[in-house]
Amino acid sequence: MKKHNFYAGPSIMSQFTIEETAKAVHNFADMGLSILEISHRSKQFQAVMDEAVALFKELLEIPEGYSVLFLGGGASLQFAMVPMNMLAKKAAYLDTGVWANKAIKEAKLFGDIDVVASSKDKNYTYIPKDFTVPGDVDYFHYTSNNTIYGTEIRKDPEVGVRMICDMSSDIFSRPVDIAKYDLIYGGAQKNLAPSGVTFVIVKDEALGHVDRVIPTMLDYRTHVKKGSMFNTPPVLPIYSALQTLKYYKSLGGIRAIERMDMDKAEVLYNAIDGSKMFVATVPNHEDRSIMNVCFVMKPEYKELEKDFIDFATERGMMGIKGHRDVGGFRASLYNALPMESVEALVAAMKEFEAKH
Ligand SMILES: *Cc1c(COP(=O)(O)O)cnc(C)c1O
Repeated sequence: MKKHNFYAGPSIMSQFTIEETAKAVHNFADMGLSILEISHRSKQFQAVMDEAVALFKELLEIPEGYSVLFLGGGASLQFAMVPMNMLAKKAAYLDTGVWANKAIKEAKLFGDIDVVASSKDKNYTYIPKDFTVPGDVDYFHYTSNNTIYGTEIRKDPEVGVRMICDMSSDIFSRPVDIAKYDLIYGGAQKNLAPSGVTFVIVKDEALGHVDRVIPTMLDYRTHVKKGSMFNTPPVLPIYSALQTLKYYKSLGGIRAIERMDMDKAEVLYNAIDGSKMFVATVPNHEDRSIMNVCFVMKPEYKELEKDFIDFATERGMMGIKGHRDVGGFRASLYNALPMESVEALVAAMKEFEAKH
């Protein structure tokens, strides 16, 4: 049976990425060796790194003066590396859920943190709008897509200060005005590559303005200077990332991808909104994520939630169980997910509804 992959992360990758990665595991760059067993300093791998950085910059239209890094440690290490490198005195953070809170917790180790707004009062089912960011902070940090709750900030905020953003789960799903940011980071395992590599886009001039001692490996300047090759980088995930970037380019780039993502999300949200049984957990349309669609059953059908998971799983839907903090269902519609999978899920929802 055809499987439809709605996992939230690690999550669906393009068939192209998987096939090209598999080939390189057997024979990389016609070397007669696996990519798993060659030096990261070989000219063949250096070419992969260079091309991945160049395509990353091209697709996101990253201006001059920014570096793209491929590091280890996940987005979770960035929660600490960001304030260690960028927070001199005070920073502003927006609290939109679990990941934002983890970033806030680490930042507090390095300076004064002003949490300018929170949507905790309604279990993070909306994006706070009425807040002001003090003009004297070193940066404003936010999470663009809240993977767990299905909320998303799809327009670069206008807050009057430099911004830093965790774009782990919606990078490459919309154009970003990079010039407004000092740094953007994310784990690769949603829209880019298998887990193990973390991307960082950093404005070179924004570095070097804090007094504290920074260990070599945790200092962005080390990785900028050494082109992400200070130590052994995550070779295989970087290779896969390059394949995904090539695939994105072949689709027509970010604007083409965004249109496909919007279409997929619209089909699913429309089905949910038009249903007697299901209801979206994020009521405000403009706050709804186009990457992670969260929904539950209305109170009168609540006891059928478990049945629907089984029903959908029997029809090939994988990974639609909601996060434990939200319950119900979550369908992640990352870039590599085809419309066909959304249609299969909608068909399963309609069939289930008709039976009850
Ligand atoms: C998945 C995710 C993370 C965690 O990434 P790791 O690479 O596992 O540390 C952080 N932030 C967001 C928004 C995520 O979706």
